[in-house]
Amino acid sequence: MTDTPADTPKKPDFRSDVTVDLVRSAAGDSDVLWAARVSTAGEQSLEELTKDPERSRGLINYLMRDRHGSPFEHNSMTFFISAPIFVFREFMRHRVGWSYNEESGRYRELQPVFYVPDASRKLVQQGRPGKYVFVEGTEDQHRTVTEAMEESYVQAYEAYQRMLADGVAREVARSVLPVGLYSSMYATCNARSLMHFLGLRTQHELAKVPSFPQREIEMVGEKMEEQWARLMPLTHAAFNANGRVAP
Ligand SMILES: Cc1cc2nc3c(=O)[nH]c(=O)nc-3n(C[C@H](O)[C@H](O)[C@H](O)COP(=O)(O)OP(=O)(O)OC[C@H]3O[C@@H](n4cnc5c(N)ncnc54)[C@H](O)[C@@H]3O)c2cc1C
Repeated sequence: MTDTPADTPKKPDFRSDVTVDLVRSAAGDSDVLWAARVSTAGEQSLEELTKDPERSRGLINYLMRDRHGSPFEHNSMTFFISAPIFVFREFMRHRVGWSYNEESGRYRELQPVFYVPDASRKLVQQGRPGKYVFVEGTEDQHRTVTEAMEESYVQAYEAYQRMLADGVAREVARSVLPVGLYSSMYATCNARSLMHFLGLRTQHELAKVPSFPQREIEMVGEKMEEQWARLMPLTHAAFNANGRVAP
């Protein structure tokens, strides 16, 4: 992205999506099998991997069911994620088996890209914490949300630009920007840490332990899961078959 000179007002961009690109991976079901079999068959196990698919499926399922977790750690996936800052605040609470690098608001001028939920986002919370549901908002509520957010974002970004134009450092001026601003980061994990994340940050009919994640982090989780399932179909199937609890 090129920086427009500070005296030219930038047009804000309002988005309702998140994007997740798998930029690098070394991850396959064979990594799990290799790690598990080395304990009994040593290096010979490499030759065994493709010999008997049913046995491989059974072994992965057994590891998942009995929560032998470490064989699921010998793989790596790096995702490039673009989402609002409030999603990243939740995301970075996941400390174990994750590495993060996020764009800097100190070293570059932040771009005016902001989150505004689309019509599919349920707006109204009913029930009590831990046992609530979200239901559709009315058209009026959607209009209020869109107008209030856009107005507030424009005002905040104008204040940011005014300070930059006056020579104030980016790290000071950014204080006025809201958590609906988009950021981007690389997040690297392995299948075990991803499963732990997915167990908490997605809702799924097969989940043995239900969770109630915020929809926007769930959108990120769903996109990561789609890509992981393609890389490790047996592991993904075993995760679902065993109630989506990380081993
Ligand atoms: C629906 C939902 C609502 C939430 N609401 C809030 C909220 O209101 N306020 C809030 O602050 N957070 C909230 N969180 C965040 C939550 O408390 C966790 O910080 C987050 O889900 C990361 O989970 P984790 O600690 O298991 O993951 P990780 O940090 O990745 O840890 C993975 C596992 O490692 C072990 N572990 C890691 N660190 C330690 C440690 N220091 N000591 C012992 N064992 C450790 C635990 O077994 C842990 O499950 C919420 C999360 C969800 C899913």
